[in-house]
Amino acid sequence: MNATDQVARSEELYRIYRAHLDTCPRRHIGILADCAEGARMLRAVHASRLAASRGR
Ligand SMILES: [Zn+2]
Repeated sequence: MNATDQVARSEELYRIYRAHLDTCPRRHIGILADCAEGARMLRAVHASRLAASRGR
């Protein structure tokens, strides 16, 4: 996967995460966050952005 694909992938993951925030009634921010699915998705966004910034 090249860097452009990585960026597109991270943007897609972020769109999916934002769509989840719009539909999920749980908390996602701060110490009261209680949505394991949302936390998992956010970790995936961060990991893909890190991979994209490294260019691989
Ligand atoms: Zn959620």
